[in-house]
Amino acid sequence: MYISEEHPNILQFDIFRDSVGILDFVTTSLPPDDDSGDFNIGFAGGDGCVENRVKLALAFGLTPENFVFQTQIHKTNYHFATREDAGAGFYMKQNAIPDNDILITDQPGLCLITRSADCVPILMYAPKQKVIAAIHSGREGCRLGAAPKAAQILHHKYGADFNDILVGIGPHICKKCYTVDKDCADNYLSREYFAPNIVEPADNGQFTIDMKKTIISDLMHIGIPLGNIEHSELCTKHHAPSFYSARNGDDARFCAGIMLL
Ligand SMILES: [Zn+2]
Repeated sequence: MYISEEHPNILQFDIFRDSVGILDFVTTSLPPDDDSGDFNIGFAGGDGCVENRVKLALAFGLTPENFVFQTQIHKTNYHFATREDAGAGFYMKQNAIPDNDILITDQPGLCLITRSADCVPILMYAPKQKVIAAIHSGREGCRLGAAPKAAQILHHKYGADFNDILVGIGPHICKKCYTVDKDCADNYLSREYFAPNIVEPADNGQFTIDMKKTIISDLMHIGIPLGNIEHSELCTKHHAPSFYSARNGDDARFCAGIMLL
């Protein structure tokens, strides 16, 4: 990832850098151009969050109607965003796309948003078909295969070749920081796709879960080349306070967004 040339507190994916006709970004815990204040764009922060979403829109010359937010419930439900969804969830959670973790569109001007604080924000782009996706994949999303499901939809519905799909995996809690108990680890392994070494023993009878390796393995399993997948090395927990981390007790959220211009 690289730091946005226009906005010092916004990150962008190298994998999309040469793609003409899309905008992508990942926010941090700081406003786009200002090192004071916070930048919670989640739903649990009242008016401050709405002000921050307005700041985000202004940073990219967008309006609230460009944005599509989803509520995110740790499943693999998907939604094809259309003009009717313009502005969904920008001002209030009640208007966001409900019970959804995968947003997909082939329509320009709709900025698909996935919110995160330790969960994995994932952006996808199929350049030939001009289709994008924003995916929220926490532990359950990784167990259930939210990312490969999104890629399958780009393939089956839009005809995207897996060799062409570009993927950006944003900042999230790293394997070292993500320890769980045995029941949780066992549950994580009860998954459809096989991915090696995604759960490993840690201290005190705990286990680590490697969500990044899970996602990369799953995407490669269905045919997306490793070279098409960029993954951030930033950890939301141990790189606090640059990001928000649920494990650090934050109920604030940063976000990743992608839009066809
Ligand atoms: Zn970490």
